[in-house]
Amino acid sequence: MGRILAGLVGSAILAGPAAAQAPAAPSPLSRVPADQVPLPPPRPEEAKEPAAKDPAPKEAAKDTPKDTSKDTPKDAPASPVPEPAPLPPERPADLPAAPAPTPATVVPDDTACLRRLDRLGVKAEPVAPLADGLCGAAKPLRVTALPDGVPLSPAATLTCVAAEALGRWSTEVRVIAERTLSSVPKTIQIGGSYECRGQNHDPSAKLSEHAYANGVDVMGFTFEGRAPVTVGAAREGTPEAAFEAAVRTRACGFFRTVLGPGSDAAHANHLHLDERERNAGHRLCQ
Ligand SMILES: [Zn+2]
Repeated sequence: MGRILAGLVGSAILAGPAAAQAPAAPSPLSRVPADQVPLPPPRPEEAKEPAAKDPAPKEAAKDTPKDTSKDTPKDAPASPVPEPAPLPPERPADLPAAPAPTPATVVPDDTACLRRLDRLGVKAEPVAPLADGLCGAAKPLRVTALPDGVPLSPAATLTCVAAEALGRWSTEVRVIAERTLSSVPKTIQIGGSYECRGQNHDPSAKLSEHAYANGVDVMGFTFEGRAPVTVGAAREGTPEAAFEAAVRTRACGFFRTVLGPGSDAAHANHLHLDERERNAGHRLCQ
């Protein structure tokens, strides 16, 4: 009997002496004189133990024999033998390896967006991920032309979301050009797209959406059979001024941020269009 119990003790999950001996065969043991049968520590004690700083399980097992021999059932609650901690070591030590995603590192699922771009007639192809310090984009596109085959001059590097907004806006630009200028755009002139920099080229400012390939600067438009329109250059009251005002207003329907002449000195000669996420979907349309 003693040998069998010893075997059980060795393989028991609870290494505590009392715990190992008592529960194995309750009915035969119940006939043994009480002072020879140590009982397991009461449950409340057990529950408390894991929180405390326990010695390693092996140590606890080593100490057991001495302590147990002295124990009577009534002493059990006060047993000094700590239970082994049942929980695995805490994980935080190996967690810091994964940094929080930023606009530069988040990988968008743009499958549906790419399909829409294609249907829209936007010519764009995926290029290598951009990563430059805090700047970058996981899935940038090189956008060369907008719907109706209107080229961007030069090509722009944009996220799919920004490319789609530009494409949709350009179809409205075409309608506005037909109405105000009796012409259609031949090219859209781009001042910049992806660029690792702060807002308004200020290195101490928050990063611009340009730093995430999520913004584009439109400098002007060329047309079939008439002079180009350069943003900020048209005289008030002219068809060109009406065209510029209308396309700028319309951009607010596609981009979350629209800045241009009059917004501030940094935007006097171009339309800045971007898709910055803001709380509660707020837009900045100036
Ligand atoms: Zn800009």
